Amino acid sequence: MWLADVIRAYGVTVKELPGWTLWGMGDFDAIQGIMAHHTGANTTSAQYIARNGGLGGALSSQIHLSRTGVATMCGVGIAYHAGRGSHPGWPTNDANRVSIGIEAQSDGTSPWPAEQMEAYYKICAAILMKLGKRATTKTLIAHWEYSRAAQGKWDPGAGNGKPGAVMDMDVFRARVNHYIDNPPWRRAPLPAPKPKGEPLLTIRYFRDFITGYIGPVISDVKDIREQLTGGRNRGEYPGWSQLGRRPDGRGLTLVDSLASLHQRITTIETSIRELHALLQQATTPNKEA
Ligand SMILES: [Zn+2]
Repeated sequence: MWLADVIRAYGVTVKELPGWTLWGMGDFDAIQGIMAHHTGANTTSAQYIARNGGLGGALSSQIHLSRTGVATMCGVGIAYHAGRGSHPGWPTNDANRVSIGIEAQSDGTSPWPAEQMEAYYKICAAILMKLGKRATTKTLIAHWEYSRAAQGKWDPGAGNGKPGAVMDMDVFRARVNHYIDNPPWRRAPLPAPKPKGEPLLTIRYFRDFITGYIGPVISDVKDIREQLTGGRNRGEYPGWSQLGRRPDGRGLTLVDSLASLHQRITTIETSIRELHALLQQATTPNKEA
């Protein structure tokens, strides 16, 4: 049966009595909800709840809850826990047929251990969530709410040292609804997804960029510098010896060579002009002669 699984899913420690999935006082039809009890003593065993001597060995609730918060599965069928009673929305004197009973180990006056109460809320939340319900007076009631008038039942007790003082079930139902709204598997927010792949600005990225793009550009720049100055590296202007030599013995750069060519062309132009003038003088008839 799903009972143990859904309670475990809520983080409650679950024990199972041998044969519990085959034990009960008849089959359920539709389950309306839960009835909460205390066992009457702080030491009542799960075996007693499963085979209640006071009820001729009958199953007296499906679940036993220890003071340490351990839920023990006692049976799966109908259990004899509700007795005579009535409550709005519940069948009169016939609640066993439609409700799961939980017997919490308690005398009703001892303070309730926190771990037991947390487990109590979670067990109810697990069952009601499985049934697709929330905690209301029609889905989760105390035995005292159902049978106090008919049988003087006061369980579960308030645990405040006063026999007969009953547990505040509105607070109880609110806590159960809190756990229905916040099941343990939904409590932790998902971690933010990590970006996939390697980050953009890696050493590899820069190395590839230099090799693939900057490298060739730098190589081209050096080629150009070498063609202009005769040296590949910054600050070097050794010149080209085949273009001529400067006074310090270094070769001419391309600019030096161009400047030198300019000078020599000007000189040649001047010489041609002088030669042209001389030629004209020589071929003009000497009218004075
Ligand atoms: Zn009871």
